[in-house]
Amino acid sequence: MSEHLAVTAASGLRAQAAALDAADELAPLRKLFVLGEGVYLDGNSLGALPAHVPGRIADVVSRQWGELRIRSWDESGWWSAPERIGDRIAPLVGAGPGQLVVSDSTSVNVFKAVVAAVRLAGPDRTDIVVDATTFPTDGYIAESAARLTGRRIIPVDPAAAPSVLGPATAAVLLNHVDFRTGRLHDLPALTAAAHAAGAIAVWDLCHSAGALPVGLDEHGVDLAVGCTYKYLNGGPGAPAFLYVANRHQRAFDSPLPGWNSHTDPFAMDPRYTAAEGAVRGRVGTPDILSTLALEAALDVWDGVSVDSVRAKSLALTDFFLECADAYVEGGLGGPDSRVRSLTPADHRSRGSQIALRCAEAPAVMAELIARGVVGDLRRPDVLRFGFTPLYTGFADAERAAAVLADVLARLPAA
Ligand SMILES: *Cc1c(COP(=O)(O)O)cnc(C)c1O
Repeated sequence: MSEHLAVTAASGLRAQAAALDAADELAPLRKLFVLGEGVYLDGNSLGALPAHVPGRIADVVSRQWGELRIRSWDESGWWSAPERIGDRIAPLVGAGPGQLVVSDSTSVNVFKAVVAAVRLAGPDRTDIVVDATTFPTDGYIAESAARLTGRRIIPVDPAAAPSVLGPATAAVLLNHVDFRTGRLHDLPALTAAAHAAGAIAVWDLCHSAGALPVGLDEHGVDLAVGCTYKYLNGGPGAPAFLYVANRHQRAFDSPLPGWNSHTDPFAMDPRYTAAEGAVRGRVGTPDILSTLALEAALDVWDGVSVDSVRAKSLALTDFFLECADAYVEGGLGGPDSRVRSLTPADHRSRGSQIALRCAEAPAVMAELIARGVVGDLRRPDVLRFGFTPLYTGFADAERAAAVLADVLARLPAA
């Protein structure tokens, strides 16, 4: 593109960004977050801090812990926080109340869910089908769960999962959105396929909770886990959630039956009797500081519909792709392009991030971050840009694409 045409394209896209931001009903939410200068496109790894959270945590520390001390387990609602916060996340993932509990990490919850799924499926089912493209921790944990339960792992690309399902399948563990490419898998169809084979469907929602509608109840998902420090902005290491569908709660047999999941924990009964409901997914004493930081962070969702978040996410990712295609020498898909999108163009298969393959990705991401455009690198060659509709605007997308193009233009090709 000639210099003159490039300048015209840039001013057109900048004007378009301004118009899109002006029409964006979610734009006022941005001021609820601490963001500073630059463009933050890593909310799919660590969500930004909602501005009111430090004050709330200061109260938890100084008053609830400092003054009320042990009384806070009751009076400040510490003990019941895992279920209470689970119920606040529930509508964001399409679940009715009483089915989510917040505790432990996603990794630990994957373990609970996979072992419990195998137990629900019964002794005759020998296989655990696992997303071959999974975020590694899910794969590591599933492999250990398989060894412990005497099952075998069948790795599969999620889209091809139906072809390996059968009477031997105990459980299917899939990621809703691929953390590397941003591909969104067909949760309703894959859950239905698992059920047609008589298997338990376990979904990892780390990259979809807070980014797009999930519809856990509507689609009959059996068990699910998800992260709260990504699109839910709960803070570093915030506890994950575990969803156990109502119909499975009585039979849900946790492999980590800690005292918090006992029907009467303070009876200190030597015999274990599982509590009813989602509480059964708890293990030990909740991490109150992180748990209550998450609870406070969820306030930003009051009155926000996940459908509007989804609509903006798709518009933002479309716009970023359009800008990058216009600005980067050679475009995104041309014969001379140095960056190529790994994220599906089709909205039905796209999460809330754009992944670009680039041979010089490590140097490019280092330079982007130095210039205030914070995405992340997935080695060896993937540039990841997360779009979080609560606080990312169209001008951010345009600026990120412009800086990317400039960084590439200054960097010799590998
Ligand atoms: C982020 C992420 C995790 C993180 O697990 P932790 O136990 O919180 O470290 C797990 N699985 C997926 C799919 C993720 O995206």
